[in-house]
Amino acid sequence: MRQLLIATHNAGKLAEFAALLAPLGFQAVSAAKLGLPEPAETAADFAGNARLKAQAAARAARIPALADDSGLCVAALDDGPGIFSAHYAGGDYAAAFARIIAACAAAEEWRAHFVCALCLAQPDGATRDFTGQAHGRIATAPMPGDGFGYDPIFIPAGHTRSYAQLGSALKDRISHRAAAFAQLAAALPSYSTQTSR
Ligand code: IMP
Repeated sequence: MRQLLIATHNAGKLAEFAALLAPLGFQAVSAAKLGLPEPAETAADFAGNARLKAQAAARAARIPALADDSGLCVAALDDGPGIFSAHYAGGDYAAAFARIIAACAAAEEWRAHFVCALCLAQPDGATRDFTGQAHGRIATAPMPGDGFGYDPIFIPAGHTRSYAQLGSALKDRISHRAAAFAQLAAALPSYSTQTSR
């Protein structure tokens, strides 16, 4: 099985990547397990942050690496919180939901979309980017259920329930992450993942 380093220290993300990569013949290797440092996410957009993380990991470990960056873009907030989603309202999601809903109500504009950027980097620095989006709207009040982050306030287009209420099986088919992975899966078989060691 070919190895692909997953440039995340988040155990949940690693498991998600491993499950998606196994059917493609790739074994996910954890960056945390190799003791690799996590670079600061200083880029101006999702793709730039994914690239920073993937390139740093691939260079350090000298095997191909995959990284992601994702977030929620709200039209009433000029596509914010965007790359700052994880830390918006100090990372207090109840406060973040209230702020976002108030902004949408004030602007009478409820459209929003999630973005997931993936970057596959080679040890020599070469990269390929894949971006998935999921469009929808912000709920007028949180609609809790399962899931994480902004799931309770995002209703995907064509649905009446929030990401949190759709169930993981359905969410995983229609999400921004699924869209980005579909592109990656299409590109991986033809992509060299030889180590440079
Ligand atoms: P990252 O780990 O730097 O990519 O930060 C992603 C942040 O965006 C998360 O902490 C969540 O706040 C938000 N986010 C990304 N994807 C989702 C999702 O599928 N559901 C809910 N929130 C998400």
